[in-house]
Amino acid sequence: MSDRQFEAAPGDSAIVAVDIGGTTIKGAAFGPSGIVLERATVPTFGAEGSPLAATVELIGKLADAVSAGGHRLTGIGVASPGLVDSVRGSVIFAANLGWTDVAIVDLLAERFGVPVALEHDGRAAARAERAARVAAGRDGDDFVFVPIGTGISAAIVTGGVFVTGATGGAGEFGHVPVVPDGELCTCGQRGCVEVYASASAIARRYRAAGVSSRAGPARSRPPSTPTPSLPRSGAMPSRLSRSG
Ligand SMILES: [Zn+2]
Repeated sequence: MSDRQFEAAPGDSAIVAVDIGGTTIKGAAFGPSGIVLERATVPTFGAEGSPLAATVELIGKLADAVSAGGHRLTGIGVASPGLVDSVRGSVIFAANLGWTDVAIVDLLAERFGVPVALEHDGRAAARAERAARVAAGRDGDDFVFVPIGTGISAAIVTGGVFVTGATGGAGEFGHVPVVPDGELCTCGQRGCVEVYASASAIARRYRAAGVSSRAGPARSRPPSTPTPSLPRSGAMPSRLSRSG
């Protein structure tokens, strides 16, 4: 447990926040004024191959740390990729998690007995940037925040308002096909942006090309994997794919 725990007085309320990614689920328990009580990370598909089981396991671990420090858990915040309906508390579709209509807020509220809030991971990250007054959200009311992880999406902020779209899919451009008949994506389509430009896709293509991340590029030939030729903009789909 972090020694920062001792900056929070026993009995204070604490919250747990988790970021569900396609590779790992990261979480932390926070005391008053944002003091970090504990951090933990688990593989997304480590617990019985189920991201939901892994999420519950991680939150349980952090909730235990809250209790062990003499604090009181008062809420849980969850950031999820995909099409996220924060109002209904449900993840409508998340290709990288294999989720369709997962009512995660109700599930976690029932399991842990505290209020649970759900937000799209990209929008949550953009809110943090804005709240912390750093990077792109430093002093702007109009910006696009594009986190690149296992997947890719964007948080769109205009006039200080976070755009969610009618189905919670605003900024979910990772599954827009950009290479006709390209590589298969986790969403079932071919040639999605994510297949070529996500962090996991770039790492996978480097591995496939025989480039070791430890050896670094100096000892290795450039990746021999052919760079996909992008279609002209006129060939881009005119709307985001509903499939995620
Ligand atoms: Zn896709």
